[in-house]
Amino acid sequence: MTTTHEHSAPTAHGDAAYRAATRVFNLAAPVTPADAVTAHTVEEVRAAIHRARARGLGVRVHATGHAAATARPMDDALLIRTDLRGDVEIDVHRRIARVPAGTRWGAVIEAAARHGLAAPHGSSPTVGVVGYLLNGGLSMYARHTGLAANSLRAVELVTADGTSCRTDDRSHPELFWALRGGGGGLGVVTAVEVALFPVAAVVTGAAFWPAGEARRLLPLWRAWAEHAPDEATTSVRIMNLPKVPEVPAALSAGPVLCLDGLVVAPAEDGITTALRRADELLAPLRAVAEPIMDTWHRAGPTAVAETHMDPADPVPVLGDHMLLEDPGDEGIAEFLRVTADHPRPALTVAELRQLGGALGRPVAGAGALGHLDARYAYSGAGVPGFAGGPEEIRAHCERVRRALSPWDTGRTAPTFVARADQPRGHLDTGAILAADRIRACVDPDGLFRGDIAPDCSASR
Ligand SMILES: Cc1cc2nc3c(=O)[nH]c(=O)nc-3n(C[C@H](O)[C@H](O)[C@H](O)COP(=O)(O)OP(=O)(O)OC[C@H]3O[C@@H](n4cnc5c(N)ncnc54)[C@H](O)[C@@H]3O)c2cc1C
Repeated sequence: MTTTHEHSAPTAHGDAAYRAATRVFNLAAPVTPADAVTAHTVEEVRAAIHRARARGLGVRVHATGHAAATARPMDDALLIRTDLRGDVEIDVHRRIARVPAGTRWGAVIEAAARHGLAAPHGSSPTVGVVGYLLNGGLSMYARHTGLAANSLRAVELVTADGTSCRTDDRSHPELFWALRGGGGGLGVVTAVEVALFPVAAVVTGAAFWPAGEARRLLPLWRAWAEHAPDEATTSVRIMNLPKVPEVPAALSAGPVLCLDGLVVAPAEDGITTALRRADELLAPLRAVAEPIMDTWHRAGPTAVAETHMDPADPVPVLGDHMLLEDPGDEGIAEFLRVTADHPRPALTVAELRQLGGALGRPVAGAGALGHLDARYAYSGAGVPGFAGGPEEIRAHCERVRRALSPWDTGRTAPTFVARADQPRGHLDTGAILAADRIRACVDPDGLFRGDIAPDCSASR
């Protein structure tokens, strides 16, 4: 969009502008709204809202489409792809980054690192900053920093009547509360301010073993995780990787167990401690079985963007997610029975991410979602065509879900939810009604109703 006149012409499904605006990272979940535009300025966001109203359409918002599989059908909506112009601006004194909507985490990581600072980003540098933060955000540093939404210091948005406003804990505090995990449908965010934190060094990487070793190794990891320091955040994955040039041959020869994550040293005098803590995690596992690949090393914060080795390019993905109580050794054995031991695995990845630490502690002044009351985040993901088609992947997801159900909390980390129809379960009734009251104020006609997550509103 460049001029206001162009806004009056609806984009057709074959148009280049429509195709650019509807591009999604998850190729298994194409989106087909009635109309779609890319907005580069606040004025263009306003014009898009006006255009939707003129056509009697609802408004939906996205940036990268990493969460496209969670989007409801949008046949009667105009989709705004947010790609706001401007650079990431770092206020070194206040340790805050101002980030235009549409920016991906990679740009924030780079900008912050120039000042010895780090950002509460997740495993993939290509995920959009805004969608991740509005939905909670499980950072690679999560046990050190807490839920990433707590790092939001301000949110700028355009609401349903076309008004721009800046929300923070003093200005429109109720709206600021709802924006942080309240389930969406509040407007089009145009920029955010995010708190950064100091990092002198990290010990980070990934170690891989044949999945057959997982029965001996995972109980050791779980025992360590029970008493792990907040500076450490790790995850374990059973991976069935395809034989493609991007994957080292040693890792695609059969199913593997991967242990990755980091230990952070906030200041220079903490580096020796961080190295010792990483060793306390890794040495007992390395002693049981030698890894087939091991990249753990001391590094700066930019290295963390590569640790989890997420795909950089769009890929089709089907998956599932649950937040778990402590599964104990019995639950770990169940997890392995349906993943590592499965004779025909359709899941490319089955992951347990370690929670607790700062993630589990309520935070004063938090938004609708401020902490996660669970011990592990399970997520499973399959790429159709790798080791099975969509039906096999869904069936495998269902088998893992059944096996882990005794430890299911019924809640979710909203950013990990993989299906449009999965309830989030992270808001209690009081929070749902409070979020509804705020939506009724800022969007009385329900222009953004299609962007509200399932079970986050009493009226849906
Ligand atoms: C490979 C991969 C790795 C991931 N790793 C992690 C991880 O480590 N931790 C984690 O927590 N999550 C992770 N995720 C999940 C990711 O954080 C969520 O999918 C997140 O919602 C993506 O945000 P986005 O803006 O990129 O996606 P989009 O699909 O573009 O947006 C998601 C939703 O955010 C909202 N939204 C986006 N932009 C705006 C805006 N400008 N105004 C208002 N609403 C907006 C909309 O409701 C939209 O439907 C990962 C996903 C993938 C595919």
